[in-house]
Amino acid sequence: MSFDHTAMRQAVIDTACALQAAGLIVGTAGNVSVRCDEGFLVTPSGMPYDELQTTDIVAIDHNGTAHGCRIPSSEWRIHRDVYAQRNEAGAVVHTHSPFATALACQRRDVPAFHYMVARFGGANVRCCGYATFGTQALSGQVLAALSGRTACLMANHGMLVFGRELKHARLLAAELEALCEQYWRALQAGPPALLDDAQIIEALSAFANFGQE
Ligand SMILES: [Zn+2]
Repeated sequence: MSFDHTAMRQAVIDTACALQAAGLIVGTAGNVSVRCDEGFLVTPSGMPYDELQTTDIVAIDHNGTAHGCRIPSSEWRIHRDVYAQRNEAGAVVHTHSPFATALACQRRDVPAFHYMVARFGGANVRCCGYATFGTQALSGQVLAALSGRTACLMANHGMLVFGRELKHARLLAAELEALCEQYWRALQAGPPALLDDAQIIEALSAFANFGQE
């Protein structure tokens, strides 16, 4: 098993750096992965993203065995479980971005206050229950909150999104952070009006027809 994938490794680094430049990743808090034939490629634990070389990216095979000279991100189990359970996932992004994390610390779901909530698969983006970072328990919480969705908030922690490929996942992460900021700001004037189920179903079908990608 070679796990070469030099271009894919560089794309993981570029994605992490772009998320950092956009303010979604601060310091080394956050991680990025992409699916490959042998398993997936994930950012290493605790290394500054702008110093990463392609050989620092850790390959993890279908058995959960890490290949490479670095320790994988502490949240590699979540990435593994997303790829195992969600066939449509080609890339996963986890961040502690400011507004998503602020809402996650309130343990609030993002409700249907804006039609863009439907972008993530339904009438809300759920906040999962709390578990210690890096644990299998946290992965279980995240996978449950992702049911029928492509994103969730993580209680007292941050957020996670997946997309078809790295750019898609990066854009969805930016959209989720923007949505969380809008919800946070809307709350300042009191509880916002919420869309009903029929309006969300219409938004879902409009996204299916037009994509809005
Ligand atoms: Zn984290």
